[in-house]
Amino acid sequence: MDYQALANLLFPNVTETPEAVEARFPSRNAPEGAVITRMAPSPTGFVHLGNLVQGLTSERMAHQSGGVLFLRIEDTDAKREVAGAVEVLINTLKHYGIAFDEGATVDGDMGAYGPYRQRQRAAIYHVFAKKLVSEGHAYPCFCTEEELSAMREKQEANKETTGYYGSYAIWRDRSLEDVKAQLEKGMPWVLRFRSTGSIENQFKFDDLVKGQLTITENNVDHVLLKSDGIPTYHFAHAVDDHLMHTTHVVRGDEWLPSLPFHIQLFKTLGFKLPKYVHIGPLMKMDGNSKRKLSKRKDPELALTFYKAEGFPVEAVYEYLMTLLNSNYEDWRRANPTAPSDSFKFSPKKLNPAGNLFDYAKLTDVSKNEIAKMDAEKAYSLLTEWAAEFDPDFAQKLTADKDYAVSILAIGRGGKKPRKDLATWKEAKPYMGFFYDAYLETPVFDPKFSAQTVCSVLTKFLDRYDPADDSAQWFDKVKAITQEIGFTTDMKAYKADPAAYPGTVADVSTFIRQAVTGKTNSPDLYTVMQILGAERSRARIQAVIDQL
Ligand code: GLU
Repeated sequence: MDYQALANLLFPNVTETPEAVEARFPSRNAPEGAVITRMAPSPTGFVHLGNLVQGLTSERMAHQSGGVLFLRIEDTDAKREVAGAVEVLINTLKHYGIAFDEGATVDGDMGAYGPYRQRQRAAIYHVFAKKLVSEGHAYPCFCTEEELSAMREKQEANKETTGYYGSYAIWRDRSLEDVKAQLEKGMPWVLRFRSTGSIENQFKFDDLVKGQLTITENNVDHVLLKSDGIPTYHFAHAVDDHLMHTTHVVRGDEWLPSLPFHIQLFKTLGFKLPKYVHIGPLMKMDGNSKRKLSKRKDPELALTFYKAEGFPVEAVYEYLMTLLNSNYEDWRRANPTAPSDSFKFSPKKLNPAGNLFDYAKLTDVSKNEIAKMDAEKAYSLLTEWAAEFDPDFAQKLTADKDYAVSILAIGRGGKKPRKDLATWKEAKPYMGFFYDAYLETPVFDPKFSAQTVCSVLTKFLDRYDPADDSAQWFDKVKAITQEIGFTTDMKAYKADPAAYPGTVADVSTFIRQAVTGKTNSPDLYTVMQILGAERSRARIQAVIDQL
């Protein structure tokens, strides 16, 4: 077979040589040991936690080694593409602190190794496709869908591996005349790789996460170019990561089954193989068993979820770091205020089997992160969240900034800051009562008569003095407790609850409920200080009037 003639027949318009293309993508002059890596998502519009894990791993590997992180859009599957997806992706990742040095941008490209959208690189793939054909490593296949499904059915019936290989590869050694005849009829074709691999052969391969793998050679003549001339993932991966000088391919381990083919493809093309970092899936506990997080079942897979719940970016970031590198938590304890990028991240610490996502743990981490913030920062992040997800609340928060900041300052600072909030969404239930519009009518424990509650509140109002310090304030509450025959001795009460009609805790709760509408609130003395004497009194009076 005259392979050069076949190459010219299939790609009559491709005149550029591989060498000329290579010259357009010169080596990067990166420092020794620098990791050049990329995110290569398909623009489906759905950005998930898995993307962030992959992004964070590549970002850390690139930037802590003085390397480059770039964004390549893998839009070879036009059917799956969603308008605006690139913008969503870039903005979402940026929100989580993953910034690209190079690659696709919202309205174009940035960097010398573009275009960074694969469909714009069709001409480049064709140069290498033509080279493969001219060397006898690739050939056109004119099989119809029907022929391919008939083949698959036959293989299944015979209990053979499915795929286009061996005697099933019916276009592998057809004559130039046969090919010509099909082309003349205008028959569509795909370009297939001519595999010389055998499933009898195995070899060892090191993956940075999975460790040493035993790989069985690929013997399938996979598709390189689809009938529209657009490459498959495999071919685009090899050509792009070669030309863009990727040193490390960080990707989901769903690509592991294709690795034998990728290794073979790089070799055949004469490309240096990058290192591979195959990340296991994110899993969760479902009852007693682990399963992969699923787009359909688990809203917490989508990154939009964390934004809408109001998890601060820092919290999600910190949590993912603890998830990916088991030594991060200890490091953080020893370095509570250090920037997270001074931690030495290692892909080798990723769990090869995948990581178990623990929502409760994320919530804990987030409580810590929010507790660490000063009131100003909490205010600014909360208002930013509310502006998007609760505009009415945002309006209240911004109408009087000092007031909102003083509320958020409760229990902040000091050695043991309060950990009230895991998300900004929890802020309104927590502090909404400070705003009259959100104040709920209290529902008192029916165990106590309205008369009892009323008498406590009246007594309290009679002697309430905003100039009291918190000890004086509490002495008054204790005095009222005794006057109405309740006990201030919680120990005695616990030993024999039936002996007392109620306690100082109940009395405090009546006042708390009158002031805040709730049985739970931050320190009531402080709450009343912030509300001010007039509003505190008015609220208590209103409850007395209703009772
Ligand atoms: N487009 C592929 C994906 O989204 C990229 C995998 C890779 O990083 O190579 O899964």
